[in-house]
Amino acid sequence: MPPVAAVFEGPGQPLSLRPFEDPCPGAGQAVVEISCATLCGSDLHSIRGDRAVSVPTILGHEMVGRISSLGGDLRDQAGSKLEVGDRVSWSLAASCGTCFYCQNSLPQKCESLFKYGHEALDATHPLSGGLATHCLLATGTSIVKVPPVLPDEVASPANCATATVAAAFRVAGPCSGQTVVIHGAGMLGLTAAAMARFEGARHVIVSDPREDRRRRAEQFGADAVTPADLPELTEGRGADLVIDLSGAPEAVEEGLGQARIGGRVILVGSVFPTRALSVRADEVVRRLLRVEGVHNYTPEDLLAAFAFLAEVHEQFPFRSLVGASYPLTRIEDAIESALPGKHFRVAVRPRRDG
Ligand SMILES: [Zn+2]
Ligand SMILES: [Zn+2]
Repeated sequence: MPPVAAVFEGPGQPLSLRPFEDPCPGAGQAVVEISCATLCGSDLHSIRGDRAVSVPTILGHEMVGRISSLGGDLRDQAGSKLEVGDRVSWSLAASCGTCFYCQNSLPQKCESLFKYGHEALDATHPLSGGLATHCLLATGTSIVKVPPVLPDEVASPANCATATVAAAFRVAGPCSGQTVVIHGAGMLGLTAAAMARFEGARHVIVSDPREDRRRRAEQFGADAVTPADLPELTEGRGADLVIDLSGAPEAVEEGLGQARIGGRVILVGSVFPTRALSVRADEVVRRLLRVEGVHNYTPEDLLAAFAFLAEVHEQFPFRSLVGASYPLTRIEDAIESALPGKHFRVAVRPRRDG
């Protein structure tokens, strides 16, 4: 069967299934037959029209699959040789490795970044998104072999959600024995709760306006307490580490107030413009706060994400975060099921019929 992809032509238009020619990988490239792709919040923002994306395009950047052909000798991020049949995940984007940002350990800001699920359809690189049977991996993509113990539903979102959270924890530094406050209990917030617990945090407090999501966080390692309990838990000092995954300006402001003197505040969720924050610079100075932004991640974070999931995927119910699964032929049903925000993730299984 020739490759098929669901092509997005703009908000309000149904995605159309189109056949593509079998891609031939150039030097350093690989073709992957996708077994599972998950719809991320940013895909839904593009579909709704809240986020500008070049069209026509193939959306979807969270996916997992098996290598079906290779353009020469390729190695994975851990340095081992890749073979046809290997089950792999890969970075959200391919980087050049030579520009200013690549040379300064910020490959996610490469000056010629190639982003899966974001590129306009192009004859030279036709299959670049997850809502398809195949994806052509560009040169400069970090590829990792997926630990066999991980089901597709757990592995698929890892190259976005888990790796980004791993980056936040790398930037934050160790949190063993510390009090961690997490804002936002979506896919990333739940992952952060589990990661804080896994790293040995003493208290893990998750804040979210939705009661069902706060309850859910308790299954992922959060304590059954609210930020209101913070003074009591910390002898009035506040949190050692605050991670914002919500992007809500109110939550960011609240988080800045929750950090103890000398604490760290890591901002991850603010990926859309919002109103300006109300922050007093003298508070940041006098309380010696370290405030840092984290956007996407580096190849090492992707490796760390899979190592983490391989360790904890049975301890925390990651698999249950994929609430529904559809074949590619029912892509419109998949989107309809994902849009209301009831599920953390909805999966598309390209080769399954029905
Ligand atoms: Zn994503
Ligand atoms: Zn670069």
